[in-house]
Amino acid sequence: MIAERLKHLKPYTAGEQPRGREFIKLNTNENPYPPAPEVSSTLRTFDPDLLRLYPDPTCGELRGAIGESLGLGSENVFAGNGSDEVLSFAFYAFFDGAHGPLLMPQFTYSFYPVYCDFYGIPYRRLPLREDFSIDLSAYLAAGQASGIVFANPNAPTGVAVSRAEIEHLLARFPKDRVILVDEAYVDYGGESVVPLLREHENLLVVSTFSKSRALAGMRLGFAYGNRPLIDALFAVKDSFNSYPVDALAQAVGTAAARAGSYYAEINGRIIATRRSFASALLERGAQVLPSSANFLFVSLPGRTGREVYAHLKERGILVRHFEIPGISDFVRISMGTDEQMRILLGEIDRWTNSPS
Ligand code: PMP
Repeated sequence: MIAERLKHLKPYTAGEQPRGREFIKLNTNENPYPPAPEVSSTLRTFDPDLLRLYPDPTCGELRGAIGESLGLGSENVFAGNGSDEVLSFAFYAFFDGAHGPLLMPQFTYSFYPVYCDFYGIPYRRLPLREDFSIDLSAYLAAGQASGIVFANPNAPTGVAVSRAEIEHLLARFPKDRVILVDEAYVDYGGESVVPLLREHENLLVVSTFSKSRALAGMRLGFAYGNRPLIDALFAVKDSFNSYPVDALAQAVGTAAARAGSYYAEINGRIIATRRSFASALLERGAQVLPSSANFLFVSLPGRTGREVYAHLKERGILVRHFEIPGISDFVRISMGTDEQMRILLGEIDRWTNSPS
């Protein structure tokens, strides 16, 4: 009954989305602040009659609005139902193992190996440096490769590489193979490589409205690239589902794309929260990786990551823990409001000061 190919798949495990009990939810890097006022007014005035009709399969207006905000033409923008979907299309479109394995960091977004298994793409993970940064020179030295994928800032570490380092890689990597840079968290202090698209035909940038645009529930993700790559993504989409982005999501996304100054303000606040929370943890002797994202990857002295996760969960605070050798001492803490971080710090203090 069940196809053989499914029996060998190990699906991605998403962060918990608890229903019922109220948690301080710092486990899936959602934005603690509301979407822009323009999003609320779009939702209030959206004409339900439009839902009778299929949406624009090309997402023309939405792609135009995003392109305008980035200095790109709409033909350089692809829109999908969350960046997970866009990534999946990109893996199918660009990585086939023809020239060797797809290269990715040892620790990065854990969905990438799942797409590889789903599509039968061979892949190879390259170790991070001791300080958890991505060593891009290792990707050039690795020999055969059909492409490269990494998140920048990386997940779950939050550590970023510079645009100059990526440019150096692009200049030396074969031009007929795609380098995919997942910029899900770039608005929190990373350097976007969108300005490099002009020079590099084989660069694809993926982004999302789930984090810095406070729209995780709307499911909107994007890819930016040169025409042949964007056309290839359309060919995958149109072989799979013609209308992945619904009419309401297109309208809301267009409003969010035009509300840049509101988002710059709330994301600035999140960066400030991250800075003060990181210093508070460092003062308490924690190991905190330098983050350019809306989360911190943290290890508390003398406690495993699992213990930290379980202790906080009992007290109504959810953080993310990965039971993966090499990073299992850490938890990933999304930045909430200052008040939420104050409560979390209070719990950590109560715990570490109490006799065990
Ligand atoms: N890329 C990275 C690095 C992520 O952490 C996430 C969030 N889990 C995504 C992509 C997917 O985000 P979404 O599907 O909500 O756009």
